[in-house]
Amino acid sequence: MQIVSIPCRADNYAYLLICDKTQRAVVVDPSEAEPVLKTIDTHGVKLVGIWNTHHHYDHVGGNKEVLERVPEAQVIAHESDRGRVPGQNVFVSDGEHIDAGGELQAQVIFNPGHTSGAISFYMPAQQAVFTGDTLFASGCGRLFEGTPQQMFASLTALTSLPADTRIYCGHEYTLSNLRFAAVVEPKNTEIQERAQAVQALRDAGEPSMGFRVAEERATNIFVRVGEPGVMAAARAEGAEDDSPVAVFAALRRWKDRF
Ligand SMILES: [Zn+2]
Repeated sequence: MQIVSIPCRADNYAYLLICDKTQRAVVVDPSEAEPVLKTIDTHGVKLVGIWNTHHHYDHVGGNKEVLERVPEAQVIAHESDRGRVPGQNVFVSDGEHIDAGGELQAQVIFNPGHTSGAISFYMPAQQAVFTGDTLFASGCGRLFEGTPQQMFASLTALTSLPADTRIYCGHEYTLSNLRFAAVVEPKNTEIQERAQAVQALRDAGEPSMGFRVAEERATNIFVRVGEPGVMAAARAEGAEDDSPVAVFAALRRWKDRF
């Protein structure tokens, strides 16, 4: 399977997933149609599905126009997003298997917190997961419709996937996330090394996507809440105690005003 990152809007990514066996494809989060349709044409593939991680406009904004081209495409989002995702015709829940033919097989991971209906698309055979605005590279989404408990559980589930799983998220926020992480955990050399590597990628015009679960465990302070240095930093910023959720909540509030 090929994964093509498609830059959209200011800092969004849509992803075109192409089955090498069937030349069929699905697109994850087409926030705008034009770059997505162009990429489909360039690769000469048949689009069979739109997979939406959540209802925000900068993830579903291109649904309608893409559907005008391929009205038969399946539009998949969480069952609780009914009425919020343009063109949605498949309503999935946690653990459900999605079969779009050939290599386009995914498992739904329900991960509320950023929104109440947020999901990730996990493709075990491809060792890839598409996390929308839940898990970012060295960060996480804001809590618009969920609690710290929910988001922390969602991030824990995603970073418990096999260490070599490649992660593709919704926004290119990696460098600013790493700048914040370096303030929270200044002695973590892996954060500094990752920031240098990502800076080189960005300087070359490359996306930082396709990072690994193992890197998140090492550099994502939002899941490193059991580290003494992270707990101390969170305490200094108002965490009520050292429990994982309290530390997470304090870090998230801090990042919101960072
Ligand atoms: Zn969002």
